[in-house]
Amino acid sequence: MVKLDGKVAIVTGGSRGIGASISKELAANGVKVVINFNTSSEAAEQVVRDIESAGGTAFASQADVSDIAQSRVLVEDAINKYGRIDILVNNAGITRDRTFRKLSPEDWKQVIDVNLSSLYNMTSASLSHILESDAGRIINISSIIGQAGGYGQTNYAAAKAGIIGFTKSLALELAKTGVTVNAICPGFIETDMVAAVPEEIRQQIIAKIPVKRFGKPEEIARGVVYLCQDGAFITGHELSINGGMHM
Ligand code: NAP
Repeated sequence: MVKLDGKVAIVTGGSRGIGASISKELAANGVKVVINFNTSSEAAEQVVRDIESAGGTAFASQADVSDIAQSRVLVEDAINKYGRIDILVNNAGITRDRTFRKLSPEDWKQVIDVNLSSLYNMTSASLSHILESDAGRIINISSIIGQAGGYGQTNYAAAKAGIIGFTKSLALELAKTGVTVNAICPGFIETDMVAAVPEEIRQQIIAKIPVKRFGKPEEIARGVVYLCQDGAFITGHELSINGGMHM
């Protein structure tokens, strides 16, 4: 098992939802966490306060990870503060759900840029540092929608399926270096993203989940910690955490 004490992680979109939970869970295991946010500075500072009051170490750093220059500054910020990067969690994501015929070029581009191009931006900016780690980990948050598709989600499904292809290809390229690259595919998890879905549709979704509930952000966060601690022989994997909704 890898000791996470003293390791450094960047969590993109760490200010809310799944990313906030991943940040707290990593910090609880001794990781110093760079909590990236785009617009929610108060939420990000609250995650930092929560981590510090539990005895952990973290700081918040603003960057739009769909922008390569800002992604590079985020990585520089992490290096200036903590001197190393062991773990990159590419978690930032947005939805702009519309049926394909109503989907504008902006809806398409924004979702691809934030959910998928951010992986290129952040990985290319941080890889040289991660390669210096004795237990480098890149963990990409995909989605059940990338595996199974979703009505009104051609843009999001394409981005999330792209994450899986990116993950497997980079895993092959980096396998010899000891850096593992994995994707987590959450099902429906109780965050702002799912809270935005109308109640009637939420009930229809729960009816389709074999365990009959939404997942909790912590259930994804513990998957991340597992891949960091015990995952030296796990690479190129799609870890489905979805209550049995897609097998
Ligand atoms: P959320 O509650 O809406 O939080 C999204 C996070 O991403 C926020 O911290 C947000 O920061 C950040 N973000 C958005 N655009 C960004 C940008 N351009 N640059 C940097 N950060 C940005 O979403 P969530 O439900 O926790 O989802 C987290 C990840 O899990 C996403 O990739 C999502 O696609 C995936 N996922 C979620 C579910 C689910 O059911 N919730 C299921 C499958 C996959 P700001 O608020 O500061 O902008």
